[in-house]
Order: sequence, then C-alpha cells, then structure tokens
Amino acid sequence: MDWFHCSKCFTKRGSSFAVTSCGHICCEACIISECSVCGASCCYLTISDEMKPQEKVFFKEPLKLMQSRLEHISQIAVFQQKQMERIIIHLRHMTVELERRLKELTDKGYQLSELRRENDVLKKHILELKKENAELKKPLSQRRVSPGHLHIDSGQRMTLPVAITSP
Ligand SMILES: [Zn+2]
Ligand SMILES: [Zn+2]
Repeated sequence: MDWFHCSKCFTKRGSSFAVTSCGHICCEACIISECSVCGASCCYLTISDEMKPQEKVFFKEPLKLMQSRLEHISQIAVFQQKQMERIIIHLRHMTVELERRLKELTDKGYQLSELRRENDVLKKHILELKKENAELKKPLSQRRVSPGHLHIDSGQRMTLPVAITSP
C-alpha cells in the first residue's frame, strides 16, 4: 500500500499503527493522548485483522472494492432478470391461452346467432302453419273466402249468361 504511512513522522515501517477518530494514521511512537497531527482530542483504533468489516474497508484497494461490488451488483441484476423472464414466459402463455379461448367463444357466439336466426324463421313457419290449420278446421261456411276462390266463382257466374245469350 503506497499511500500508507504515519501522518506525523511519515514512516512506513513499524509493527503497530493506529488510526484516529479525526482520520489520521499514527505509528506506535507518535501516539500521544491527543492527535499528534492535528491536536484534536481523539480516540485511537489499532489497525489489525480484528477490525470490523466497516473499518477494514478503509484499507482495501478501491479498484478491488469496485470490482467485488460490481460483481455483487451484477449478481443482483441477473437474479432479478431471471425473475422477470419467468413472468414474461408466464404472461406469453396466458396471452396464447386467452386468445384461444376468445376465438372459441367468438366461434360459439357466431354459431349461436346463426341458430337464433334459424329458430326465428322456423317460428314464423310454425305460426303460419297454425293459422292455416285453424282455418282448415272451420266449417266451410265460416271459412274466409280467398281471393282465388272469389275469382273462380265470379268467373263461372260471368260465363253463364254469356253462354245463354250466345246465338
Ligand atoms: Zn510516526
Ligand atoms: Zn488528527
């Protein structure tokens, strides 16, 4: 670590160093009651492997920290991406299924409207046949005279006198 040295005497060698709460590094020889660099009343933390991770992190290489953080971040991104892909696959299946059901219902609806139309036509036929049947059941005298009969009757009546008066 090129940057590491005592902030007071600038030595790099020594068995024990400490970091102050005011942010200075002191070798064993430079440790006094207050900070030997800025004179602030401070507390000392011995630099060692027993430091907490949040303290140790200040002595790690920023580049390596960035790489490991980036790896962690990319793991998080891949994890979330995989969840997203599952949702997309599920939604695609849902879309296909809903489209299939919609087509099925549309076809059924079309068939239903065709059957309704056919049913209406048949109902009309039945009504006409009922009317005709009721008419046929009446005695001859009560029957409505159809224009066809009237025509034939009057035709016969008309032809008779002509035949008589003919020479
Ligand atoms: Zn020193
Ligand atoms: Zn200081």
